Amino acid sequence: MPGFVGHTVANAAVLVGTTVVMRAQGWSWQDVMAVDAGIVIATFVLSPDLDLFNSKSMNGWGWLRFFWWPYSKLAKHRDRLHLPILGTAVRWLYVLTLLAILGLLFYLWFRRIGLGISFDFAGDAHDLIYNALYLVDVFIGAVLADTTHYVLDILSTKIKRLVPRRFRERYERYAQNHYDRDHRPPPGQTWIPLEGQR
Ligand SMILES: [Zn+2]
Repeated sequence: MPGFVGHTVANAAVLVGTTVVMRAQGWSWQDVMAVDAGIVIATFVLSPDLDLFNSKSMNGWGWLRFFWWPYSKLAKHRDRLHLPILGTAVRWLYVLTLLAILGLLFYLWFRRIGLGISFDFAGDAHDLIYNALYLVDVFIGAVLADTTHYVLDILSTKIKRLVPRRFRERYERYAQNHYDRDHRPPPGQTWIPLEGQR
């Protein structure tokens, strides 16, 4: 239940930490930047909270959020796709597939109106593999961010259990109010359950 701000702050700390550690280990700036890009994208664009259609991560998508509607229907909030690596891979493949479909549609459309685009990968196979390694960096960054998100989600549930019983009701009211501010309820529903409850 750390909410959008909590997750963003934690991931920012991970970004700084990763940069320092990778530089100390002698990685090139290109590699560091690729991993950092993965962290930033996983925090603001491909957050695990996308399984919640009314979450703050979703607001950033504007009208494009409708691309995510099938995903949020498919993945129940905080279900398996909230897990790092698995969820990370599914979200990135989901976006890459959509982009590929979009690219194909444009390609077919360009061909129809007589604008031929030819792809020549033959000579660039080596470059292609070389650049694909940066994608691995980006993915590792995204996994780091998603792992932090997951650990924070779990920890906050644990912290809630630590609150003494007599204060718990008040704490839960506070948490719910906080949560309501970050997650707009869908139309026709005045209340959506707190993260972790379904
Ligand atoms: Zn979450």
